[in-house]
Amino acid sequence: MTGSPAPHLDGLPHYFAAGIGAGPANLSLAALFRSGTSESIALFDRQPAAGWHEGLLHSGVRMQTSWMKDLVSVVDPTHELSFLNYLVRNGRLFSLINAQFDVIPRREYMRYLAWAADHMDDVHYGHEVDVVTFEAGRFVVHCDEKPVATARHLVVGVGTQPARLPGLATLPAERSFVADDLHRRLPQMTEGDKAVPVAVIGGGQTGCECVLRLLDEGFTDIRWYDRSTWFHTIDDSPIANDVYRPSHVQFLQGLSRPTRRRLVEEMQHTGIALTPGAMRTLYQANYDRMLVTGEFPVTLLPGREVSGGALVDGEVALDVVSAEKREQHRVGYAVVAIGRVNTPVPLAPELVAQIDVDTDGEVLVGDDYAVTWKGMAENGIYALNRSMYVNGITDNNLTLLPVRAATVLNSMLGREVYTVSDDLSPVRWG
Ligand SMILES: Cc1cc2nc3c(=O)[nH]c(=O)nc-3n(C[C@H](O)[C@H](O)[C@H](O)COP(=O)(O)OP(=O)(O)OC[C@H]3O[C@@H](n4cnc5c(N)ncnc54)[C@H](O)[C@@H]3O)c2cc1C
Repeated sequence: MTGSPAPHLDGLPHYFAAGIGAGPANLSLAALFRSGTSESIALFDRQPAAGWHEGLLHSGVRMQTSWMKDLVSVVDPTHELSFLNYLVRNGRLFSLINAQFDVIPRREYMRYLAWAADHMDDVHYGHEVDVVTFEAGRFVVHCDEKPVATARHLVVGVGTQPARLPGLATLPAERSFVADDLHRRLPQMTEGDKAVPVAVIGGGQTGCECVLRLLDEGFTDIRWYDRSTWFHTIDDSPIANDVYRPSHVQFLQGLSRPTRRRLVEEMQHTGIALTPGAMRTLYQANYDRMLVTGEFPVTLLPGREVSGGALVDGEVALDVVSAEKREQHRVGYAVVAIGRVNTPVPLAPELVAQIDVDTDGEVLVGDDYAVTWKGMAENGIYALNRSMYVNGITDNNLTLLPVRAATVLNSMLGREVYTVSDDLSPVRWG
């Protein structure tokens, strides 16, 4: 008789699927697992408890998507983990309706995620996945340098992290930091600092929210930089929103890879920009403050790229490049809000070596979000929020989470557990 092929794995919990990360992407998948199958899924997240972009939860910030686009409803509106059910179970329904929000507070969405996670069996917080290996025909999840679970399929839902400006790398951390750290830095600043110029670099929604937070805190000289000619807002027209539906994703999936990439590039302004109304809120707050003090506390500086900076005479000296000039701007602090980059995926090098990449070195992800790799016939690696140029701009936001989760689930189980249909559309994409 032969022994176990991997005795060090004996006794570990074995799941049908394991997910790295318990953000909305993997939570949506786990929710559909729960209602659509009898198979098990476990999620591992490094956060100590349920949370969602907590560094960016300034007072009053709102979602960019409708509350109907929750973890489950667009695929399964009768699911017990719908946002509506969350409101009813927590006694908030009438108050929320009567508050007449156009879009709900981000904090409410975070609470909803925490509530949903709490209703699932195997969401493990405080578990940073160091590495995933593939041994004896299964994925092995390691945390704290120890194997903690094995699974037949793996789902990567590690999301994004703030991008940093390499040119500011030499500045002390307390003088230049990313937007996600602003809430932690503010209590360390003095009343005197509020009159010191503060640069916010990056003209997107996060930059705007940082400017508003600084205004709220009483800062009187906020300088807001963006490299584009003006601060762009999201195109929220009906036809722009038609890009965020399954019929458009299916249209894209029928095109060649280069064409998909080109179309997705052209669509960025439908999703990655300021929420309509955000600029009005900022203009009005700036005007209100000017009425009191006689000066605008916020100066908008479009068409300026901040390329670097250094500490000079105790001040942050920023190198600023515009269409025809190169200048140095002196500020006290620099808040960096230039977007987000993919969080590294902790796969063992031997596993990475078995994954196919295209000619640009990008991992090949299919229409079912499965990564092309040697063992894919039996063991799937699914990548969420990693294939925008293949599966459309919806891949990196919340609008079609349940549709993507249903697609992954159907692929893993090799049958149609959930039907995704979107046939009644007035638009014929071409
Ligand atoms: C401030 C902000 C607001 C946004 N608002 C909207 C919106 O209103 N509408 C919209 O459509 N989109 C929005 N987005 C874009 C996008 O939908 C969100 O970023 C969304 O959270 C992506 O979900 P995710 O699950 O893929 O990733 P994340 O939410 O980033 O979750 C990833 C999780 O993985 C965990 N993780 C990472 N690495 C490891 C590891 N090695 N081990 C264990 N755990 C790990 C992280 O702790 C995290 O909890 C917003 C983005 C930001 C930054």
